[in-house]
Amino acid sequence: MTPISTLGEFGLIERIKNKFKTTHNQVIKGIGDDAAVVPIGNGLVQVYTTDLLAEGVHFDLSYAPLRHLGYKAVAVNLSDIFAMNAVPFGITVSIAFSNRFTVEAIDELYEGIKLACERYHVDLLGGDTTSSRQGLVISVTAFGQAKEEEIVYRSGAQPNDLICVSGDAGAAYAGLLVLEREKNSFVNNPELQPDLSDYDYVVARQLKPEPRGDIIQELREMGVRPSAMIDVSDGIASELHHICHQSKVGALIYANKLNLDYQTLKVAEEFQIGATTFALNGGEDYELMFTLPLKDYDKVKSSGNFHIIGKITPDEKQIQILLDTGGIADVEAQGWDHFRGENG
Ligand SMILES: [Mg+2]
Repeated sequence: MTPISTLGEFGLIERIKNKFKTTHNQVIKGIGDDAAVVPIGNGLVQVYTTDLLAEGVHFDLSYAPLRHLGYKAVAVNLSDIFAMNAVPFGITVSIAFSNRFTVEAIDELYEGIKLACERYHVDLLGGDTTSSRQGLVISVTAFGQAKEEEIVYRSGAQPNDLICVSGDAGAAYAGLLVLEREKNSFVNNPELQPDLSDYDYVVARQLKPEPRGDIIQELREMGVRPSAMIDVSDGIASELHHICHQSKVGALIYANKLNLDYQTLKVAEEFQIGATTFALNGGEDYELMFTLPLKDYDKVKSSGNFHIIGKITPDEKQIQILLDTGGIADVEAQGWDHFRGENG
């Protein structure tokens, strides 16, 4: 018998994908991007994506309020819809919960789901509720729509394209480290009240991420369409590998172009982790990474909402970073792996 940890998450997805062939030739894109793409006529397509959050693996209710959790479960799915350059319109929500959850607790969870629906203008279309032997599991499926020619895949990056990332990097992971530290000191000394005021930004980034529908909008207003796009759920390094492998290109990024918030830098220093490592491998930021043809530079250079961190190069085997020291290193694809419970 083979432990699943020998495959890792991406290996397991690949193994499942290889067992299934798409039999309906109207399916434009099946497994292998941020969302599946199916035409609905008149040049329009719908996109579908699903994500599951399990207690003890993806969240810890000792510091994640149920309302935030409901919000986040929706947000992470909408992020995958935006990553296709599509606009979400609906979700289904399925939950399993043990008998330790009260009506009031489930109300709180759905209050957060409702907030996200209102904020991102999506409808709750259905779902399922059931009991579990232990803990809480939330599965959300999101539906979006776009014109077929608007859809952006991971596979369209070309040599010399600019590599852009919205927002700042590593903040959600910084928030997680702080929350775990405070939890441990509370377990050791329940008299201590955690003071998170110096970490409000990174903690919010961990507990209540905002998917970047505003970037999709901004790019449309600028009249540019990315050549490739992915959302940053597992860290810039991991997402860069996905884009490069699927586009059959390489990349060169610059450490000094990575955008880190002051609070993230502070946490990196406290935990003695290099800022670049933090930016490349910290997961759960739910920002967008996309590539743009060089000719669009003048149209996008004044945006303060995303940063150009490097360029696409021709050699598929070279995904590299120019470090602050002047040296060049390979970017290792160290996404967060829940099957191994570690980075790497
Ligand atoms: Mg994604």
